[in-house]
Amino acid sequence: MELMYQSTRSEGTKVTASQAILKGLADDGGLFVPVSIPKLDVSLEDISKMTYQETAYEVMKLFFTDFTENELKTCIERAYDSKFDTKEIAPLVKKSDAYYLELFHGATIAFKDMALSILPHLLTTSAKKNNIKNEIVILTATSGDTGKAALAGFADVEGTSIIVFYPKNGVSKIQERQMVTQKGANTKVVGITGNFDDAQSGVKAMFNNKELAKVMDEHGYQFSSANSINIGRLVPQVVYYVYSYTRLLANGDIKAGEKVNFVVPTGNFGNILAAFYAKNMGVPVGKLICASNENKVLYDFFETGVYDRNREFILTSSPSMDILISSNLERLIFRIAGDDAKKTADMMDALKTTGKYTITDEMKLKLADFTGGWASEEDTAKEIKRVFDETGYVMDTHTAVASSVYHTYKEKTNDDTKTIIASTASPYKFGTSVMSAIDKKYEGMDDFALIDELCKTSGVKIPNAVEEIRTAPVLHDTVCETKDMQKTVEKILGL
Ligand SMILES: *Cc1c(COP(=O)(O)O)cnc(C)c1O
Repeated sequence: MELMYQSTRSEGTKVTASQAILKGLADDGGLFVPVSIPKLDVSLEDISKMTYQETAYEVMKLFFTDFTENELKTCIERAYDSKFDTKEIAPLVKKSDAYYLELFHGATIAFKDMALSILPHLLTTSAKKNNIKNEIVILTATSGDTGKAALAGFADVEGTSIIVFYPKNGVSKIQERQMVTQKGANTKVVGITGNFDDAQSGVKAMFNNKELAKVMDEHGYQFSSANSINIGRLVPQVVYYVYSYTRLLANGDIKAGEKVNFVVPTGNFGNILAAFYAKNMGVPVGKLICASNENKVLYDFFETGVYDRNREFILTSSPSMDILISSNLERLIFRIAGDDAKKTADMMDALKTTGKYTITDEMKLKLADFTGGWASEEDTAKEIKRVFDETGYVMDTHTAVASSVYHTYKEKTNDDTKTIIASTASPYKFGTSVMSAIDKKYEGMDDFALIDELCKTSGVKIPNAVEEIRTAPVLHDTVCETKDMQKTVEKILGL
């Protein structure tokens, strides 16, 4: 039977998975959710004997029901291949008293690769299924990480091209080099003289420009976006929760049916929502522990039932979690509102106009699966050092937020359920913060200078992604003024 998708903000018409992937966002501004979360139809014991790719198929076939077996398996094979530097794709390592699920073995050494390596294939397959002949042009504004992961995912994928705008003076040296050395005839990277907000506004304006859409269509192009609310990014993230649970089962670390906790360093709420979906599919989960940095809007939400973005925005050493509007939370709100689109729409409206909303007591009761925690900058640095001193394992700042939150949680609750911590970036990506947490003498040195030191300290081979950009030639040097973004796109596409 076909699993259909609806918007979180209105009952409206339901769409198929491929249509939801193509559209990204519903017409009413809501997010697409499956009308129900499917249950796994093979046992976890059986999955424990499967590879990552086979597990991916068992999960995705239940969500993307309008894809044929062959289509889906082709997408999976193309995504989870030698771009990853380990056959396991997402290895689980035990250190100290927790298991770290390493989600950073893909092309850009951060967890966004888990979804962005398959999204381009889901998108082109969806286009074919819906008889779309145009080339899909992915337009993205980035403050650093997403841009590179999207470039790597879409590079040389037939039927697509990708244009990334970034603030010329607003990203780190490593991030800029990662982007401007990107290979692939269908990739374009453009620096703008403005900041990230300017880049984002420019991209939004192009998406909403009907005249431009018409000219694009005449030339055989149409825009699409790769942002994190696409259901084609959420579902692939469910896979590694199922996979990691079944690895514990395979190793005999847990018995069949035994519950585990997941701790997830959270920004936009996509990663932890995928864990919630995994639980609803039948994975035995105790607590879902949502870890925030000093931008602890989610921690406060789980404590009080009030989501309030009216607060100072703090720049931290875990920048991918520096977020005050966690877009994917809307899917959870919809769920705990009893799939009530009207109620969800009202709350999102309040968020837009007043910057906050309050959930009802009844909804709050349905949040029992979750608990929130947060780590200060000092806690985060201390945790990196503690785990390094005790075990020799070097973790990145985002993972350290989660690890710190886990230990606070454990002290408070004495919960000794086996626990998996989502490890979302390689320490090489945030070398300065990581190394100065271990030894103050590294403070002020840049990420590039610290690569060899980090290698000596951690004993972890320098990832290809890092090695490559040290020597790779610059392939993109276009810079434009903010007001000329559209002109630049027109020129690139030859409109
Ligand atoms: C994006 C990101 C996160 C946050 O994930 P969400 O799905 O947005 O909650 C955490 N850590 C790293 C390294 C990231 O890139």
